Amino acid sequence: MEAKQYVEEIQKKIHANDRGQVEYLQAIDEFLPTVEVFLKENPAFIDANILGILIEPERMLQFRVPWQDDQGNWQVNRGYRVQYNSAIGPYKGGLRFHPSVNLSVMKFLAFEQIFKNSLTGLPIGGGKGGSDFDPKGKSDGEVMRFCQSFMTELQKHIGPSTDVPAGDIGVGAREIGYLFGMYKRLRNYDAGVLTGKPLGYWGSEARTEATGYGCVYFVKHLLNDLNESFKGKKVVVSGSGNVAIYAMEKVKELGGTVLTCSDSNGFIYDPNGIDVELVKELKEKNRERISKYVTTHKEATYYDGQSVWDFEIAYDIALPCATQNEINEKQADLLVKNGGKVVAEGANMPCTLDAVAVLDKAGVLYCPGKAANAGGVAVSALEMSQNSERLSWSFEKVDSMLDDIMQNIYQTCRDTANKYNAPNNFVLGANIAGFEKVAQAMLSQGLV
Ligand code: NDP
Repeated sequence: MEAKQYVEEIQKKIHANDRGQVEYLQAIDEFLPTVEVFLKENPAFIDANILGILIEPERMLQFRVPWQDDQGNWQVNRGYRVQYNSAIGPYKGGLRFHPSVNLSVMKFLAFEQIFKNSLTGLPIGGGKGGSDFDPKGKSDGEVMRFCQSFMTELQKHIGPSTDVPAGDIGVGAREIGYLFGMYKRLRNYDAGVLTGKPLGYWGSEARTEATGYGCVYFVKHLLNDLNESFKGKKVVVSGSGNVAIYAMEKVKELGGTVLTCSDSNGFIYDPNGIDVELVKELKEKNRERISKYVTTHKEATYYDGQSVWDFEIAYDIALPCATQNEINEKQADLLVKNGGKVVAEGANMPCTLDAVAVLDKAGVLYCPGKAANAGGVAVSALEMSQNSERLSWSFEKVDSMLDDIMQNIYQTCRDTANKYNAPNNFVLGANIAGFEKVAQAMLSQGLV
């Protein structure tokens, strides 16, 4: 069968089977057309129907999570774990606790994770999980009871050699601690079952920083190719969580100025450059809203209820680090008008497909999340290695390995795009390079 027809038939089938799963279908529609050119040159993968098989998740779990609130009332949320593909290693991918979590969101994230993990060059398969539970506004006791109930079910399906979850939106060190504690009570000590653990018990140096730093390292290598650097660059960031904070920290360290950051209530513009230490204190330590920033920084402005992507201001680089679909077509237009030359996704799928088309047309260098934010999962895999050998490596060692991995991912995306006559198309480069390794592994294992 012709590659074009083969890909179109798979796309049609997925749309028919998974109608209404908006985010998932968006990720599929971004991916499928880009691998057509690879399949055309490698018909053995069509003959073995590798893509058709890969696109079906190996396993999807949905379970109820009952928990008791501080008033003694029983609440219930939905828990998920999508174990999408284990061809090159144990399922690996974070847990997200956010009210927007549903099966479509879990599947899109798990699907992207397959190719992201493949790009790291490390032996990790693709998975994702989470719940529609919202830790915001809950007491520590409520979060703990929720995590314990969540893990009571999840522990049946994960393990250091089968599936190793980590954090994501709404799941930070506190949640990982409660989840790990419950796993330990139920299954005995198995440190390698979760990553993103605190440094005091089996965590890795530089894991907290890894996604944000990694995203900036990716752009650093891209700029390097253009004989440029972060020095003097104006950078706009969205989000103020784990990814955003450490992306801002690294940009600052490399000589750039971060003008904005945000949370789901609004955004901050600081013409003097965002005070990252203050954001850390507000968000990591005190769990405050970002609006508090202006109480100590009078020259900064807080824009309540507004998106940073609707803000007219000159800048060079945009790092969306909040959530999926935060930049639409109109906002991409404005980003181009604002002078943005590079967009690197710290978040997963923050640009809609229409937004990406606008960026491509304008010649903006667009770095998709599955490549640019792979640093987090890469250091998670390094945490697994450290746990296995009962050793912990220094911050410098892990950070330097992270930089090397991001350089390698950037070069792989660049070179693959060039090989298929699509220079600067990092989406195509990431998808083909990520897919080829997984497809080859499936073929050689008899399609498992
Ligand atoms: P956090 O929970 O630490 O922070 C998320 C940030 O994004 C917060 O500032 C949050 O604001 C904001 N946000 C969340 N949802 C929305 C929304 N609907 N609208 C506007 N702002 C929103 O999560 P992370 O920093 O860990 O994750 C951010 C992104 O990076 C996600 O897409 C995640 O999948 C991706 N990612 C994370 C990795 C990691 O290692 N943590 C690895 C790779 C990708 P508020 O506090 O108001 O909710």
